[in-house]
Amino acid sequence: MNSIWELDTFYRKRDIIIIGAGFSGLWTAISIKEKYPDKFVLIIERNTIPLGASTRNAGFACFGSLTEVIADSQKMGWEKTLELVKMRFDGLQKIQHYFKNSEIDFELSGGYEIVNHEEPLSHIDAVNEKLKAITGLDQTYTLRQDKIKEFGLGKSEFLIENPCEGSLHSGKLVQKLLEKCHELKIEFLFATEVQNIEETDKVEVHLSAGLSVKADQLIYCTNAFTSKFLEKENIIPARGQVLLTEPIDGLKLKGTFHYDEGYYYFRNLGNRVLLGGGRNQDFKTEETTAFETTEFLQNHLENFLKEVILPHQNIKIALRWSGIMAMGEEKSPIVKQVSERQFCAVRLSGMGVALAPKMGEIMADMI
Ligand SMILES: Cc1cc2nc3c(=O)[nH]c(=O)nc-3n(C[C@H](O)[C@H](O)[C@H](O)COP(=O)(O)OP(=O)(O)OC[C@H]3O[C@@H](n4cnc5c(N)ncnc54)[C@H](O)[C@@H]3O)c2cc1C
Repeated sequence: MNSIWELDTFYRKRDIIIIGAGFSGLWTAISIKEKYPDKFVLIIERNTIPLGASTRNAGFACFGSLTEVIADSQKMGWEKTLELVKMRFDGLQKIQHYFKNSEIDFELSGGYEIVNHEEPLSHIDAVNEKLKAITGLDQTYTLRQDKIKEFGLGKSEFLIENPCEGSLHSGKLVQKLLEKCHELKIEFLFATEVQNIEETDKVEVHLSAGLSVKADQLIYCTNAFTSKFLEKENIIPARGQVLLTEPIDGLKLKGTFHYDEGYYYFRNLGNRVLLGGGRNQDFKTEETTAFETTEFLQNHLENFLKEVILPHQNIKIALRWSGIMAMGEEKSPIVKQVSERQFCAVRLSGMGVALAPKMGEIMADMI
C-alpha cells in the first residue's frame, strides 16, 4: 500500500497525463505548459531513460531528400507533401530557437542524397519551385557532382545537396528538453509502465501493483508502442539498426547522407561514420518492437560501408544498436483526439526530430 504522502504528491490527480518521454511527449508537454502555465502536467515513462526511437536514432535534423519529396508527392499529392515539409522546416527552426547549436551539437552542414539513376534529376526544378515558399530558396536541391570526390564517394553517380538539413546530438537534445520540462515544472514518473486506461468522467491511468493516477485528459506519445492502447490506429513498428565506426584518420565525409530513397542513411560524427538502415533487405524481421541487432543486417550494413562509403579501407566498428520507429500506410503522423478525454501524437516515422516540435504545438491547440 502507498502512504498518504505518496498519494498526495507523486500519484495525485493531474490535469494532463502524457505517456512517453520521447521527442513527442517532451515537446507536447512543453507546448501545453507554455500555453497553459497553470495546468499540472505529468509525463509517465516506462524506462529509466526515454527508450524507443528518440535516444536511438541517427541524429539527422531531417528536412527530406529529393526522391523522398517526389515519392511523397506522387503518393499523397502536393498539398499534403508540402504541409509535411513545412512542418519539418518549422520544427528545425524551432529547435534552433530553443537551444544553442553548441548545446545540442547542431550543425547545419547540409544534407546530401546519392542517386544512381537520372530520372529524379528531371524533377529538381519543379520541386524547387514548389519548395520556394517554404525555404525561401530558389534552389532547395542542387546537383553537386564536385562534392562526390571531396567526400570520397567514388561509387556514386549523382549527388544532390540540400542546405536546409543538418545534424545534431539526439542524447543532448533529449537532455535539454528534459531540462526545459523541469524549468516549466512538468512532473515525471520514470521506470513506470502504463498498463491500461479507463475513461469515465476522468481518465484513470493504471500502473503496476494496483496503483493508478487520474487526470482530466490523457495524451499517448508512445509512437511504435501505441497499438497496445489504440488497436485501430494504423501503426507498424519498424526497427532501425545502426552502427558506428571507430575514429577514422582523414575522414572526408561531412554532412548527412541519404541513399536508396532513405532506406540507408549515414553521417559523420566527428571523424567517425554513423550508418543505419537497410530495413528493406529484411522487412518482415524488422517489423518488431524488440531492441536487438541481427547478424544479417549488421553484416549487410558493414558491406555497404565498405562498398559505398569507405571503399578500400580497413574500418573497425565501435558500436551497434537499434531503435524502434513507427510507420504506417500513410506517411503523415497521427495527431488527433481519440475519445472525449484521450488524444494521441504518434507515428513519427523516420523524421521525428523535426516533426515533434510542431506536433506538440498542434496538440496544445487541440486539448
Ligand atoms: C535507428 C533510427 C534512426 C532514426 N534516425 C532519425 C533521424 O536521423 N532523424 C529523425 O528525425 N528521426 C530519426 N528517427 C526517428 C525518430 O527517432 C523518431 O521519429 C522519434 O524519436 C519518435 O519520437 P517519439 O517520442 O514519438 O517516440 P519514442 O522516442 O519511441 O518515445 C516513446 C516513449 O514511450 C514510452 N512508452 C511506450 N509505452 C509505454 C507505456 N506503456 N508506459 C510508459 N511509457 C511507454 C517508451 O519507453 C518511449 O520512451 C530514427 C529512428 C530510429 C529507430
